[in-house]
Amino acid sequence: VESLGSDVDAEVADEISEDNLLGGLEIESTEEVEIPDRLVDQVIGQDHARDVVMKAAKQRRHVMMIGTPGTGKSMLAKAMSQLLPKEDLQDVLVYHNPDDGNEPKVRTVPAGKGDQIIDAHKEEARKRNQMRSFLMWVIIAIVVGYALLIAGRPLLGILAAGVIYLAFRYGSRGSDAMIPNLLVNNSDVTSAPFEDATGAHAGALLGDVRHDPFQSGGMETPSHDRVEPGAIHKANKGVLFVDEINTLDIRSQQKLMTAIQEGEFSITGQSERSSGAMVQTEPVPTDFVMVAAGNLDAMENMHPALRSRIKGYGYEVYMDDTIDDTPEMRRKYARFIAQEVEKDGRLPHFNEQAVEEVILEAQRRAGRKDHLTLKLRDLGGLVRVAGDIARAEDAEYTTRDHVLQAKRRSRSIEQQIADDFIERRKDYELTVSDGDVVGRVNGLAVMGEDSGIMLPVMAEVTPSQGPGQVIATGQLKEMAEESVKNVSAIIKKFSDEDISEKDVHIQFVQAGQQGVDGDSASITVATAVISALEDAPVEQDVAMTGSLSVRGDVLPVGGVTHKIEAAAKAGIKTVIIPKANEQDVMIEEEYEEMVEIIPVSHISEVLEVALSGEPEKDGLIDRLKNITGSALEREIGG
Ligand code: ADP
Repeated sequence: VESLGSDVDAEVADEISEDNLLGGLEIESTEEVEIPDRLVDQVIGQDHARDVVMKAAKQRRHVMMIGTPGTGKSMLAKAMSQLLPKEDLQDVLVYHNPDDGNEPKVRTVPAGKGDQIIDAHKEEARKRNQMRSFLMWVIIAIVVGYALLIAGRPLLGILAAGVIYLAFRYGSRGSDAMIPNLLVNNSDVTSAPFEDATGAHAGALLGDVRHDPFQSGGMETPSHDRVEPGAIHKANKGVLFVDEINTLDIRSQQKLMTAIQEGEFSITGQSERSSGAMVQTEPVPTDFVMVAAGNLDAMENMHPALRSRIKGYGYEVYMDDTIDDTPEMRRKYARFIAQEVEKDGRLPHFNEQAVEEVILEAQRRAGRKDHLTLKLRDLGGLVRVAGDIARAEDAEYTTRDHVLQAKRRSRSIEQQIADDFIERRKDYELTVSDGDVVGRVNGLAVMGEDSGIMLPVMAEVTPSQGPGQVIATGQLKEMAEESVKNVSAIIKKFSDEDISEKDVHIQFVQAGQQGVDGDSASITVATAVISALEDAPVEQDVAMTGSLSVRGDVLPVGGVTHKIEAAAKAGIKTVIIPKANEQDVMIEEEYEEMVEIIPVSHISEVLEVALSGEPEKDGLIDRLKNITGSALEREIGG
C-alpha cells in the first residue's frame, strides 16, 4: 500500500512540475526555506560523490574527484572534514634543540594542550625575568650606594649601574627565545582541518624555514622559531584538498606522496641559499585524508604513482554536470538560492518569481532537455549579481527583474569576446546578412562553453592538375576534409560530377579566432561546396549548424541555444538546426522574435532553405532537393 501511495505521489508531483517551476514549493521568498546544518546536506545533486565522501570519511580514505569546475568538489572536500572525528586532533610544537640548533625537536600533543604548554613556558620566563630584574636592581643599589656613600665617586657609580643594566638585558635575551613554537594549533576549532592547497608553491604546501638576515651576533631568531607549517602539516587529521592536481610541479607531487606514505614529513627551508635551508626539523605528522580534484586532463597528467596511491587506498568519483529536472530537484534549487543568500549575508532574499527565473536559467544552462545544470558556482554568481542589484536599489526582495538584469550583466569572458567580435564585424561589414552569395555559408560554432559565434565558410571548386585535394587552413582543416569527403559521396551519387578530381578550397572567414569548436560545421561546409560546384547562390540571412553523415542525414550537435542566440545577434533571420536538437533549444525571450528556427533531418532540407533561386532542371541540386532522407537511404544503402 505504501509503495502505491508513493507512486501516486510521484504522479501528482509530475503533474505539478509541468506548470510549477518551484516543484510544488509554496513560498513567498527564500527566507522561508530551511537550510540544513551540515555542509554535506547542503550539496545539491552529486549523490554518488556524496555517498563516496561519507564512506571515505568513515574509513579515512583518499578521494579523487574528476569533473567540471564549480560543481561542488571543494565543497564536498570541506564537508568531508566536518565528518571526520574532532577527538583525534593534535597540536604540534617545535622546540629548540640544545644539541643542534639546526635540528629543532618536534612534539605532538592532544589539541588544546599546545596553548597551555606555551602559556606555561611564558609564565616561567616571566618569573625568571622578574627574579633577574629584582637581582639586577639589588646589585645596582649596592654598587651605587657603595660608590656614593663610601667611595664618594658618584660618576663612577652611575657608570657601573649602566654596565650592570646592559649586562642583564643582553643576558636575558636567550631565555625568551627558548619558548617553543606552536606550529599547529587546534585549540579552538569546530571541526577537523580543511586545507586547500590548490596552486600552492612548495613552501606553502610542504612547510618552510624563514631566512634569518642576522645569522649571528646574538641578534638571530633561533631556528625553531622560524619554522612554518605547510598545508600537509596543517591538514593533519583532517582533509588536504588539491584542485588541478596536475599543475603541481612533479617534485612537489613526489614529496606529497612521501608525506602520504610516511604520515610525517620534516620541514626544511625551501629556498636553497637562505639560512633556512640549513635547518631541518624532526618529522612533523601529516596524517591527512587527501581529496585530489581536477578535470579528465588532470588525471592523465598527474604523477602516475600518486594517482595509483590514491586509487589503491581510496575512491575515484566523477562529478555530474547536470541532473534530472524533477519537482524535488527544483525545490532543492530554491534551497540552493537560500544557501547562497545566507552565505553572502548581505543579499536580499529572492521572491518566488525570482527563484523561478533562476530555475529557468538552470534549465537553459543544462543545454539538455529535462535537466538542470550543476555548474552551481556560476549559477551562484548569477544569484549574487542579482542580489547585488537588488541591494543597490534597497529592495526588500530580489525580484525576477533583478535576475534578468543580472543575466545580461554576468556574461562570461567568452560571451563578452564573442559579443565584442560581433560588434567589430558589424563595423567592418564582414558579416553579410542579406542578399545571396555563391559558395558562402554562415556556419555557427561554440566558443568556450557558453558562447556562440558565427563562423562563415567560403568554398571554391577548381579543376585540378593532378588528383584533387581539399585545401583548407587552420585548426579546422581536419574537419573540413572530413566533411568534404562525406559530401562528395553524396554528390557522386546524384550527379556525374566527381569531386575527387577537383581541388576544393575551404576558407573559414574568421580564421585565427582561438577556442572555436568547429566540429559541428559539416553541413555548412557541404552546403558551401555544393553551392560553389553548382554556382547556386546561398541566402545570407540564413545560418546553420549540424553534422553530416555520408548518407546526407543531419546529425545533432552541441550548444544549439548559444549558437542560435549568436546568429540572432548578428542579424540572421533563419537558423537551420538538426531535428534531433529541437528539444535542446532554450533561447531567451528577446531572441525568439528575431529568428525563425528550422529543424531539419536531411541535407536536402538544408539546401531547400539555404539556396536561393530555382535549381537547374535535373541538376544535382534539383535531384537532391527532391529526395527525402529515406529515399536517399534506399539510393545509397540499397
Ligand atoms: P569546485 O571545487 O568543483 O570547482 P566548489 O565546490 O568550489 O566547486 O563550488 C563553488 C561554490 O558553488 C560552492 O561553494 C557552492 O556555493 C556552490 N556549489 C557548487 N556545487 C554545488 C553543489 N553541488 N551543491 C550546492 N552548492 C554548490
